[in-house]
Amino acid sequence: MAISNNRLTAAEYERNFSDVHPPFDGRESALVEANRCLMCYDAPCMKSCPTSIDIPKFIHQITTDNVKGSAHTILQSNIMGAGCSRVCPVEKLCEGSCVYNFLHEAPIPIAKLQRYSTEMAMQRQWQLFTRKPETGKRVAIVGAGPAGLSCAHVLAREGVDVTIFEKEESGGGLMTYGIAAYKVTPEFCREEVEYITSIGGITIRYGQELGRSISLTQLRAEYDAVFLGFGVGLARRLDIPGEDLEGVVDAISFIYGLRTQPLAQTPVGDRVIVIGLGMTAIDAATQAKRLGAKEVTIVYRRTRAEMPCTQVELDLALLDGCKVLWLAAPEEVLGTDGAVTGLRCSQMRLGEPDASGRRAPVHSGEEFVLEADMVIKAAGQTPFEEMVEACDLQHTGGKVAVSGNVTSIGGVFAGGDCVNGGREVVDAVQAGKDGAAAIMEFLGLHAEVKKNVPTPEAII
Ligand code: SF4
Repeated sequence: MAISNNRLTAAEYERNFSDVHPPFDGRESALVEANRCLMCYDAPCMKSCPTSIDIPKFIHQITTDNVKGSAHTILQSNIMGAGCSRVCPVEKLCEGSCVYNFLHEAPIPIAKLQRYSTEMAMQRQWQLFTRKPETGKRVAIVGAGPAGLSCAHVLAREGVDVTIFEKEESGGGLMTYGIAAYKVTPEFCREEVEYITSIGGITIRYGQELGRSISLTQLRAEYDAVFLGFGVGLARRLDIPGEDLEGVVDAISFIYGLRTQPLAQTPVGDRVIVIGLGMTAIDAATQAKRLGAKEVTIVYRRTRAEMPCTQVELDLALLDGCKVLWLAAPEEVLGTDGAVTGLRCSQMRLGEPDASGRRAPVHSGEEFVLEADMVIKAAGQTPFEEMVEACDLQHTGGKVAVSGNVTSIGGVFAGGDCVNGGREVVDAVQAGKDGAAAIMEFLGLHAEVKKNVPTPEAII
């Protein structure tokens, strides 16, 4: 049994959890990269951004030293543009679509340039948006994650007063509680939430959980409309023997622990097995290694061709010294005296394609055992089905049913992970914008979601 904390020196924790993608080292480096952009007329990078940021425009603004205008271009489409520049899987979005890939050259570092502009805006507290006159309308939002904050900012810009009800003690949702600390620190997340809400007209009430401290009926009675953006959060069970042994944790709780307590206080094993190969699995595996685990083995039941994480994420885990066992399916967590000692796995092979179109793993008939003192489950998350059911919302397996962000209950809208079951942060931001547009229509207000007027100094 070797699960313990305080494995490293303070300097080692600091080094292991420092920024994995450092920013430009100065204005000149940013200008060199920005000047490579071809300003494509039919920019494929922009089409690959779920929030449709005008990428060639913001890059052009950097080349002319109009960083404030550049930040405005980004943030009017994606108010979490600073956070997204650190956590977006850009290799499969904007940068993956950059025409330079077809020229066999490095794509424009769009995320790094986005970070350059947006972080300057945050550091210098540029107020790039002004609120329209008060409309007298009040909207309640459940969840201060990317969808809720994005919806709130659009509504606040349009003169609507917003109150966000958040069950945690900080805003940011997945960004604050569910992403590796070497991508975004809790301090950065707090600053981003403060920057977003600094527009005014947005109040966040923390420690307020739907179904416990507040009810949907109460919110509907007190506000003109309600937006639900409470995400997903329950870790999916594996339903295999031994799952409740001491030393088995789910990746969401493991990462949550890392984000809410000092790194040195987060327990980790000597020999850690991570089950799954999505982004959360990678975040858990790399952080277990960086916390001082001697061995981290990722167990995945398919092959590299079907993996849900990106190659960049996989490379990060491999560079950190994590191992990947392909075509291995967990069958039983083994233990002694109530604590984990290993994992029995089936060796798989690929069969015919399943409903997802990917070749399905089937048992080869062989088994093997891996030794471990900690098993981290990262097999996905499930929606808050009980809570959704208790609110009398129509749903599919706990995912809130919507038609264009409109739920089955009048005046109640929803978007983001609680609707789609969990996608990227940037998808949730767009869902918040879409929800705000639907609410504006419901309230009989004319929205200019994409045409916010910048303060004069922000214009080119
Ligand atoms: Fe610039 Fe690449 Fe986008 Fe073209 S595709 S506008 S080169 S970032």
